[in-house]
Parts: sequence; C-alpha cells; structure tokens
Amino acid sequence: MSQALENLLSEDRKFEPTAAFSSEANAKRGIHEEAEADYLAFWRQQALTRISWHKEPTQTLDDSNPPFFKWFADGELNISFNCLDRHLEAHGEQVAYHWVGEPGDTRTLSYRDLHAEVCRFANGLKTLGVSRGDRVAIYMGMVPELPVAMLACARLGLVHSVVFGGFSSEALSSRILDADARVVITQDGAWRAGNVVPLKANADKALASTPDVEHVVVLRRTDHGVDMTERRDIWWHDLVEGQAEECDPVVMGAEDPLYILYTSGTTGRPKGIVHTQAGYLTGIVTTHHYVFDVKPDTDVFWCGADIGWVTGHSYIVYGPLANRATSVLYEGAPNHPDFDRLWQIIEEYGVTIFYTAPTAIRTFMKWGDEHVGKHDLSSLRLIGTVGEPINPEAWIWYQQTIGGGRCPVVDTWWQTETGAIMITPLPGVVATKPGSATIPFPGIFADVVDEAGQSVPLGGGGYLVITRPWPAMCRTIYGDDQRYVDTYWTRFPGRYFPGDGAKRDEDGYYWLLGRVDDIMLVSGHNISTTEVESALVSHISVAEAAVIGRKDELTGQAIAAFVTLRMDVVGDEALLAELRDHVAQTLGPIAKPKSIVFTDDLPKTRSGKIMRRLLQDISENRQLGDVTTLANESVVMEIATKASESADD
Ligand code: ATP
Ligand code: MG
Repeated sequence: MSQALENLLSEDRKFEPTAAFSSEANAKRGIHEEAEADYLAFWRQQALTRISWHKEPTQTLDDSNPPFFKWFADGELNISFNCLDRHLEAHGEQVAYHWVGEPGDTRTLSYRDLHAEVCRFANGLKTLGVSRGDRVAIYMGMVPELPVAMLACARLGLVHSVVFGGFSSEALSSRILDADARVVITQDGAWRAGNVVPLKANADKALASTPDVEHVVVLRRTDHGVDMTERRDIWWHDLVEGQAEECDPVVMGAEDPLYILYTSGTTGRPKGIVHTQAGYLTGIVTTHHYVFDVKPDTDVFWCGADIGWVTGHSYIVYGPLANRATSVLYEGAPNHPDFDRLWQIIEEYGVTIFYTAPTAIRTFMKWGDEHVGKHDLSSLRLIGTVGEPINPEAWIWYQQTIGGGRCPVVDTWWQTETGAIMITPLPGVVATKPGSATIPFPGIFADVVDEAGQSVPLGGGGYLVITRPWPAMCRTIYGDDQRYVDTYWTRFPGRYFPGDGAKRDEDGYYWLLGRVDDIMLVSGHNISTTEVESALVSHISVAEAAVIGRKDELTGQAIAAFVTLRMDVVGDEALLAELRDHVAQTLGPIAKPKSIVFTDDLPKTRSGKIMRRLLQDISENRQLGDVTTLANESVVMEIATKASESADD
C-alpha cells in the first residue's frame, strides 16, 4: 500500500449484549482491562487453572531469542491426558462426540469410550516401532478415528500432520515429504454426498514418491475394496486387535512439537506451521471457554469445519475435549441428502453453539431460507464464524435466520499460525457490529500500522500487526526457520505481520479487509476487495462476489468483479448496470467495478476461501498458477471464457 487505505464502508448497526446473556456469561466485564494490566499474569493464570500439569512451569514467557518465543518452557504435561484421562473419574460417561455419518450411520462416544480407543490405537502404533518426535501423516475423513489417531499421537509424543481428506495425492505426497513422515494413517475411502472418495488409492499414488514411509494404517470405512501392500500396509482393526485399553501418556516438555499443519494455500505455497504443547493448549482452552461461552454440563457444541484445517484441530479436537465439552462431529456434506441437512442435525441433537464460515453462510443464503424454516433451531444460543471477512449482509442474515435474532454472533479472526482465536467479540461483554471482528481477545495486543510501521489513528486503515507474543503462536515453519522470520517478522521488525489488511473505526473496532496482497490501487486510491465485495453482496440479487484489481492503462488497476446470483435471479445487462450503480452509491464512484462477470461459482480453496490470485491471472491473461488446492477447478475455465468476453465492458 503506497498510501492509507480508503475508508469506504460505513456500518451503523450495533448490537449490545443482552442482560440475560451477560449475567450468565463465562466472560465478565473487566476481563480485557485485567489482561491488559499484566498480560503475562493473565496467561499464566489461564495456564495454571485450565491445564493439568505433570510439572507446573516456573517460567511464563521466554523472549530471549525473538521471534522464537517460548511459553511455560519448563512445564511438563500430556495433552491427551488433558483431553481424556482427567475427565474420566467424574465424567467418564459424558458424551465427547455425537458422530453423525453417512449414509445414515451414527455413533456416540463417551469420554471413557474415546479414552479406550485412543489407548488401544496408541498401543498399536507402538508396535510399528515409532518413537517420540517422529512425524505421522494422517489423511482421513471426518470419522471418530481421526481424533483418535491425533490423540494417540499426542499421547505418545508423535508429531501429527493432518492432511485434509479432500486433497489430491500430489498435495499429500508433498506434505509427507516436507514433514518426512514415516507412518501414514488413512482409510479405504471416505463418504462424501453419497460418493466414495478413494483415500487409500490416492494415498497409494502419493506413496509412490515417498520412499521413506514405512507403515500405512488403513481404517475400514466404505469397504469398497482396496489394494494392500504387503509388510507396509496394515488394517486399523488388525493393529488394535488385542491391545490394552490403558496406555501411559508420555510426559512432554511444554515446547515439544505437537503437530505440523499446512496453511490452506490461498496465497501460494503452503507453509508447514508448527505448534507446540503447553502454549497452544493454553490458547485454545482459554478462547474456547470465553469466546464460545461453553458450559460443559449443558452445551452441545458444533464446529462445522473439517479437522483437516486449524479450526478443526483447535475447536473440534483439542479445545472442546480439554474443556470437557460435548461436540457434534459431522462426516457429510451440507446439502446431502438435502439442503436442510445441517438444520436437521441442529434440531435433532439440540445443538446450542454453532461455528461455521462465511463461505458456508453465503451458500445457505443462496439456497434460500425455506430450508432453514423447516427446522426448530431454538436450541441455539450462540453462533460464530471464521475463515474470511464476513460481509455485513451475510452477518445479518446469519444473526436473523439462523440465530433467530437472539444469539450473539462471534466473528473470530485468526489463522493457522496464531493457533487460537485472536480478534473476536466476547459474548456478554462486547457489543457487535456486522462485519467487524471487534477487538483483540484479552491478553492479545494488535495494531493497525502504515507502510512505515507507524500506528494509524482510529478511523484509518493499513496493515494488521500483533505487537506482543501470545501462548498459542506458531513456533516456526517446519524445517525453515528463515522462511518463518521472513514471512512474519521482517516487514515490521519486532511485530508479527499476519498478511491481512484492517481498519479501525472510532470505537477501536477492527474491520478485516482481506490479504494486503489483494488490496487494489485505483487512480491512486487504495481500495479493499472486501469492501467492494460486501457492497455487492448487500444487493438483494447477489449471493457472493469476488473482486480483484486488474491492470488498466488509465487507472493503474481497474476493479473487476465476479458475481454469483441468488437462486432464480437472471444476470442480464440491466442487472449489471444496477450493480455497478449500487456499488457507486454504497461506497462512492471510485469503487465502481469496471467489469462484472456473472458466474455460477467462484474459484475457492478446499477450505472454501475465494482464490482472488487465480481470478487475477485470468483477468490479466496469465498462465494460471498453482491450482492444486482448488476445490472446483472446472469453474476456472468457465470464468476465463466469460471474462474474456466481457473484458471490454
Ligand atoms: P495461506 O496462508 O496458505 O495463504 P490461508 O491464509 O487461507 O492460507 P488459514 O490460516 O486457514 O490459511 O487462514 C487464515 C486467514 O483467513 C487469515 O489470515 C485471514 O486472511 C482469513 N480470516 C480468518 N478468519 C477471518 C475473519 N474472521 N475475518 C477476516 N478474515 C479472516
Ligand atoms: Mg495465511
């Protein structure tokens, strides 16, 4: 950004916490101020009260070698013990997971069941000759055995690297190689909307180029028949056969690695993010408790992400289990067997807290309200979102149509790298504004700075930075300390740079504006893609929009928009003109898109994020970059054709 970001979008709607919610809320007024007064004491207290330690730490933050910070470094613990064993005596029969599978399969696992499964599998893994610190790649769908495998690794001190089950064999092999995994855990196939995703066959293809993998454990799920390679491959059920239901957790150092997880690849080559034990656990149990207001005895928590992403790691597996929550774990797709599938599950299981992504919310809007209307969602008391900036209109729809106007909405900003939620409302404490993630979590310190690293006064926009270390921060990029330093700590020395743009309003609320790489420069004005997209989505006909800046001789960059319409709306010339005027009226003439292309779908990563980089390549007639992390490759050709037709609008 060569100059300040224009401040275009204005939003006056504000929702105060209700007295009823506040009086029962986990978070109390004053918590931000208390953490601000002494953030090390705040985090230390969370760590000591929310974690069961083998040996309590005497240290809190070790900042002797920045940016390689350590937290609670001399403490000892085991995360699987914290997620399972410590709950058994008083709450062994409590449900850990209501698993909802396809086709019509269901399973209920109590904490005692989960503990037994984890121990048996851990004992099985030991027979493969693995030892503490070894990396294990996990390539599975959303089955209970996925958290079992992760927790078994944590129990033995193995470092897991979960690779999203929707990824191709190339994506899998590059991740296996990067992490140098010796064991791969997979399943014969995964169910997806009535079809079998051939995970084992994909893995076999990947394994052709990963000579160091010694063992492959295969869970039987779809039973469609797979090739098993002798001596290398073993069935899960054979591995656990006869294994004991007890397995001593290995005592881990606070700073030993827990897992590697690759970022979703929205901006380029994925990074192998490394998280360690105690700081990570502290971050997720604290945020899970306060942001979702979880009451373990009564709530049914449902995070709809895939465990293959950090959201699933932190808020399906480690956070909820360590906090002894009851969760829903869903294997299937949101539209199978029908468009009301998620709402039917909420009704059936009495889900009280629901967490999803803006991309999903926009899709639900597109499908139409009638699917939601078929079900009683009155059990819900809090709803959340993560993954992309949420357009204010989508926020309002979510609040009204899913939340019934009564549930607080928590828009949570964070990343794979941050491990835990960073900027978020605390329900019952912080008033919300549609489209704003509000303010940093207690004990998290952020700022918005200009090109030179100077703090931008309230009301202005620039680069988001995190100004102090936090417990759940990633420790490095696996095998590449230098890339870690270069990517996050060099742009603004002494501060963490997440790569996102943001502005702060007069109340100090943060508005995330997307990746700084995506910010457009039009006739000397810096304009955020997010704001133009939100203006488009605020039009009644629009379901979803992606905006990029394409090269333009006159203006430097010209705004090019790609728009998907709500069901039953026809995209014609009249609507095109109407949308351009609508943006001009909402944001000002400078933000008016030069071209708009109507399309049935937008290119997205497999985590559902819009891939603007590709749209830019298309618009500027470049060779398309890496599309391996794309969920819907076919749409790219379709858009390319339409874009070339409309380029001269
Ligand atoms: P890569 O780093 O490989 O490009 P990625 O950034 O998409 O992939 P994640 O770590 O899953 O991978 O995503 C984090 C990013 O998602 C954030 O940096 C931000 O851009 C976006 N994001 C997440 N939550 C929010 C939110 N509530 N509001 C705005 N943006 C969000
Ligand atoms: Mg990222």
